[in-house]
Amino acid sequence: MSVYKVRYAPSPTGPLHIGGARTVLFDYLLAKQNNGIFLIRSEDTDLARSSAHWEDAILDSIEWLGLSWQEGLRVGGENGPYRQTERLDIYQRYLDRLFAEGHCYKCFCTEEEIEKERQIAYAKGETPKYSGKCRNLTPEEISELERQGRKFVIRFKVPQGKIITVDDKVRGLVHFESDGIGDFVIVKSDGIPTYNFAVVIDDITMGVTHVIRGDEHLSNTPRQILIYEALNAPLPVFGHVSIILNEQKKKMSKRDGDTSIDQYREKGYLPEAMINFLALLGWAPEGEQEFFTIDELVKEFSLERVSKNPAVFNLEKLRWMNSVYIKKMDIKELTNRVKPFLKEQIPNIDEYDPSWLEFVVETYREKMIVLSDIVPLTADIFHDDIDFEDEKCREILREDTVDSVINLFKEKIIQTEELTYEKVEEILKSLTKELGLGGKKVFMPLRVALTGKTHGSELYSLIPILGKERVIKRVDYMMAKR
Ligand code: GLU
Repeated sequence: MSVYKVRYAPSPTGPLHIGGARTVLFDYLLAKQNNGIFLIRSEDTDLARSSAHWEDAILDSIEWLGLSWQEGLRVGGENGPYRQTERLDIYQRYLDRLFAEGHCYKCFCTEEEIEKERQIAYAKGETPKYSGKCRNLTPEEISELERQGRKFVIRFKVPQGKIITVDDKVRGLVHFESDGIGDFVIVKSDGIPTYNFAVVIDDITMGVTHVIRGDEHLSNTPRQILIYEALNAPLPVFGHVSIILNEQKKKMSKRDGDTSIDQYREKGYLPEAMINFLALLGWAPEGEQEFFTIDELVKEFSLERVSKNPAVFNLEKLRWMNSVYIKKMDIKELTNRVKPFLKEQIPNIDEYDPSWLEFVVETYREKMIVLSDIVPLTADIFHDDIDFEDEKCREILREDTVDSVINLFKEKIIQTEELTYEKVEEILKSLTKELGLGGKKVFMPLRVALTGKTHGSELYSLIPILGKERVIKRVDYMMAKR
């Protein structure tokens, strides 16, 4: 049985975005379904933009999604370190080999010279590529340039006249002509390797068998294959997953609203729903099934059913899926998940009776799309200090039918054994009948007494949640303040 090692190698330059999260998920699924190893490391060679903060944020988001890994950052392993900036000695060893075998050379061309070459190529309508000017410097010339203290980069010598084929598990065979690729930089003038070089050395030295990543890296792959070949190393399996578009079929950007996983987490999306939704961004299950647990995805997922075409991000679908997950969730679990959101408004939320809290959440779960919806939905429940300053409220409380409504309501509430939705419905309907009043005359003063507002919470749900004691307290308070 072949051993799978799949890696995710984010650059810690920002939060985990939707596209990255989808890549991690596919990497995870592939490793897991093959009893393989999932590895996470960091590509932090962009020193100016990388930070420990973003590395942490990305890993936290992956953990929040419920995905675990067996090797790499946070968990360790035999092939560390797992940050590229800590692996410079390893890159140096491979660089020495490439030098010794004539696969790379020092290039002393200045930025201005390279820019000039580029402009000439553009003017001719050609794609710019490095001319190879420094390829044939003699050892004496090199020594002289070094003696002058000239800065240099290290370039890989791209063999001419070759067709490089990427056997891509998502896109099929993709061919590139080596003549279209100039000798590319593998080590920058500050001595830091470039992505294309470091990634190959990492994948080789960590024993990675599968490289599944976003298709913005497809054009890098022929360069990487050339390095594998120069080092006589076996190629991993490649798969490039299409980009994700917004609903206008344009590349998703910050302007499209929330693009990072932590934004969804903060809004109260469930990781289970996110995973389910992300899986369907590009992967098509065989049947009609739309809801998958992570274990089901592990069983069902296959790279062959990942589409070459861009996936379209549909927020409404995510919202719908999230609401379905909320509806299906065990009530204890759901209550635990909404607590952190409630806690922001009600710091002592943990002191409330757990079964009462569950009753509250159960009452409103049908209306919830995201967990944070619980906050506005329950706003009238937690605070007993209601004021009636609003002019509309005052107007309602001035009506002369208020006394009879409130008195009869109290009487009936006191007599009732257990306040349920149905029972309250019955009581309020009987009030209108017995007092010969229209619904509005009955409901409005009660609504104002119980919430201090003229619209909002449904009374049939609110009254059982408040319970007899608090209902009566609120009603009495209103009568006293009126
Ligand atoms: N660091 C790259 C990125 O964040 C990933 C490169 C790769 O997977 O090879 O897009």
